[in-house]
Amino acid sequence: MLAQDGDHPLILIRPAFERKIALVETIGEQVVVRASASLPLPHFLIHLAKASLTGLEGLSGIPGSVGGAIAMNAGSFGTTIGDRIRQVSLWHKGREHSFLRDKLTFGYRSFVHPFSCPEQSDALSIITSAEFVLTRGERKKIFAAMAGYTQRKRATQPVCAKSAGCVFKNPAGEYAGRLLEACGLKGKTRGGVGFSTLHANFLLNLQKGSAKDALWLLRYARDAVESAFGIALELEVRVVPCLQT
Ligand SMILES: Cc1cc2nc3c(=O)[nH]c(=O)nc-3n(C[C@H](O)[C@H](O)[C@H](O)COP(=O)(O)OP(=O)(O)OC[C@H]3O[C@@H](n4cnc5c(N)ncnc54)[C@H](O)[C@@H]3O)c2cc1C
Repeated sequence: MLAQDGDHPLILIRPAFERKIALVETIGEQVVVRASASLPLPHFLIHLAKASLTGLEGLSGIPGSVGGAIAMNAGSFGTTIGDRIRQVSLWHKGREHSFLRDKLTFGYRSFVHPFSCPEQSDALSIITSAEFVLTRGERKKIFAAMAGYTQRKRATQPVCAKSAGCVFKNPAGEYAGRLLEACGLKGKTRGGVGFSTLHANFLLNLQKGSAKDALWLLRYARDAVESAFGIALELEVRVVPCLQT
């Protein structure tokens, strides 16, 4: 998320109600596991690996919570979290509702459920937990795959810097990072904000960066890619508008 500079008439909710992982059922080689939304995604992945359950190791190295990963349908190395979801529970208007897969739509960094309605502020829904279908695998192989993915991420992405991950979505059949790099945006800065020198699709808060500078750079980058390649990049990072004064 990228919050605009200024006043935000918002209540921030940190859904840290519980951090549980539970076995729901076993169906042959498949195992259904329920995880709380507030669980850090890396902890969940380590738990699955320890239990010799395969299917989500491609998400290794992605920070954030299980709930945040579902809300964004986080994905990496050919795996998206939505691929393994059987059911999602949401808190909405004072009670919890559960929806099976056929009522949920996972797209590229998007998750749509029966209460999704971005225009209505009273439509607030909080993911509380989800059920995942995993497959039995070999513990050693799962840990090795996770280590490999994490290493690849560390080598190509500024994983320890202050960023919100990739700022633009990859256009069909292309990589936003490649297009941005070709336009000379790797390392381009404005104020305290700049595109990473390691990966051009990561915008970093280098030193007390402002959203004003970040948004300027995003517009500049989008215009550069559009004039060079005729491709209009779409934002992956969610911009949170502030109160207009
Ligand atoms: C170094 C780095 C690498 C990354 N690499 C990848 C990658 O390879 N692939 C990828 O897909 N992403 C990547 N990301 C982005 C990452 O997916 C998101 O930052 C993370 O999944 C969001 O989880 P969060 O808990 O931090 O959510 P936040 O950033 O806090 O929130 C993100 C959105 O989800 C909503 N949300 C969060 N929790 C809930 C909930 N419980 N219920 C309802 N809505 C909720 C928020 O309202 C917000 O709109 C990367 C980020 C970084 C910093």
